Amino acid sequence: MMALFKELDPDIIRRAVQGHEDVLGPAHIKQEAFYRQFQCPRCKCSMDKEFKSGAAFDGESLVARALLRCPLCNLLLEPNTNLILENGRDPLLPDELR
Ligand SMILES: [Zn+2]
Repeated sequence: MMALFKELDPDIIRRAVQGHEDVLGPAHIKQEAFYRQFQCPRCKCSMDKEFKSGAAFDGESLVARALLRCPLCNLLLEPNTNLILENGRDPLLPDELR
């Protein structure tokens, strides 16, 4: 059976957090700046965030952590450890050599 997801009413969310310190906003801004400094080691282009449930939380980070995917060669990088999780494919190679 497929699980159903129902969004919470935005008014209820707003009332629930009213008067509390915003700790997620600054954490998100800091994380975005961290991701922007990465580029694909192969193509040298900027990378897209990709969220995977197993890698999203480490017990310390307040906001979900992302992996970074190259839009050209499909390489997947874990930016916190600098590990390349998937090599992707060199976009300059002809199809038969990839
Ligand atoms: Zn690339």
